[in-house]
Amino acid sequence: MSFNQPPIQLTRQNSLTAALALRGLDFLVVTKPANILYLSNFRGTAGVAVFGARENVLWVDPRYTLQAKDAAVGARVVEERSSLLKAVNNWLGRRRGRKRAKVGYEDAYVTCAAFRELEQGLRGRALLVPASGIVEELRARKDETELRSMRAAAKLTSEVLDEILPEVRPGARECDLAAEIEYHMRLKGADGPAFETIVASGARSALPHARASCKQLAPGELVIMDLGAILGGYAADMTRTVYLGKPSRRVQRLYNAVREAEEAAISAACPGARYDEVDAAARKSLEGCHLAEYFTHSTGHGVGLEIHEAPRIARKQKGRLDTGYVITTEPGVYLEGFGGIRIEDTVLVTPDGPEILTSSPKDQWFIE
Ligand code: ZN
Ligand code: ZN
Repeated sequence: MSFNQPPIQLTRQNSLTAALALRGLDFLVVTKPANILYLSNFRGTAGVAVFGARENVLWVDPRYTLQAKDAAVGARVVEERSSLLKAVNNWLGRRRGRKRAKVGYEDAYVTCAAFRELEQGLRGRALLVPASGIVEELRARKDETELRSMRAAAKLTSEVLDEILPEVRPGARECDLAAEIEYHMRLKGADGPAFETIVASGARSALPHARASCKQLAPGELVIMDLGAILGGYAADMTRTVYLGKPSRRVQRLYNAVREAEEAAISAACPGARYDEVDAAARKSLEGCHLAEYFTHSTGHGVGLEIHEAPRIARKQKGRLDTGYVITTEPGVYLEGFGGIRIEDTVLVTPDGPEILTSSPKDQWFIE
C-alpha cells in the first residue's frame, strides 16, 4: 500500500454514500457490528453509527470510548452513557433542514424495541425507511486487504484438517475430534472457530447441521467434518467427508456424485453468473444421478466478516456474481438412517475463473 492511498474505510464510506443516494436516503443508521466494523474499523459488541454524505457519527458506551477513538476512521466518536439509540434519535431530532431527512435503518437486524427507541418523538423530523442489505451488498465484493485475510484463514483451516485426519479413526469420539480441530486452529494463530465445528459420523452424518456428540466413530461409517477458522477477522468454511474402511459401490457412487456436483457449482461460479444458476448447476448434476431429492439445502453462501453473509447461492436468487465475491459451494446428500456426504469449499470469483481457497484433498476420502 502506498502512503498516498486513503484508508480503505473512507473508500467504503464513499461507496455507501453513493448507494444511499441511489435509494434516495440521506443517512443510514448502522447497528449490526460487522457492518460498523467494515465501515469504520471499530470492533465492539456495542455501538451505533450514522453514515451520510455530510457527517458520520459513531456512538459508543464508556467501555469503548478509548478503543473507538483509537480505531475509528472517518467517523466522529461520541460517548453515550444511557441508550445509544436514544442518542441517535436525539441527533436526528436536532437536525435542521428544509426537508425531512430520509433515514434508512437495518430492519432485518433491529429489534422492535430498538426501533421504538429510534422512532420515539421524531414527529416527522426524520422518516425511517427499512434499508437492510445495503452494507452487506458492498461487503460481498472483497478488496485486496480482505482477500489476504481470507486466503490465510482458508489455508489455516485446510492445514488443520490435514493435521487432524490421522486421528479420524474408529474409536475416536466426534466431540474430541471437534475439540482437537478448534485447538489446532488456536495454536496456528486463528482468532477462533467461525462456528461450532461439526463432526458427525454414521447415521448422524445424515443431519446436515449435526453437533459433535460423544459418539465414537465405527468402521464402515461416513464422517462429515465441517470447519472454519477466523483469522484477521475473516472466516473460512470447508467440509470434507471421509469413509472408515473400504467403501461399497453405493458409497462410492454417492461420494462421486457429490464431488461432481460440487465441481459443477465451482465451475459455474464466474463473474456474471446468477446465484440461482450456480445453485442449479449442483442440483442438475445430482439430478443426473437421481439424488437431487436428497440435497435438502442451498448450494452456498457468501463468507467474509461473517460465516454466513450475502449473497445466498440458492434457488430464486437473481443477483449476479462479480469479481472479488467469495462464496461457498457445498452440495450434499443425506440419507436417513444411512448417512450423509457433503463437500464444501470457499471459492473466490475472479475474471480468470473460480479460485478455490480451501485446499484439503478430496480424493483421499476413505481411510482403510
Ligand atoms: Zn461449512
Ligand atoms: Zn457453509
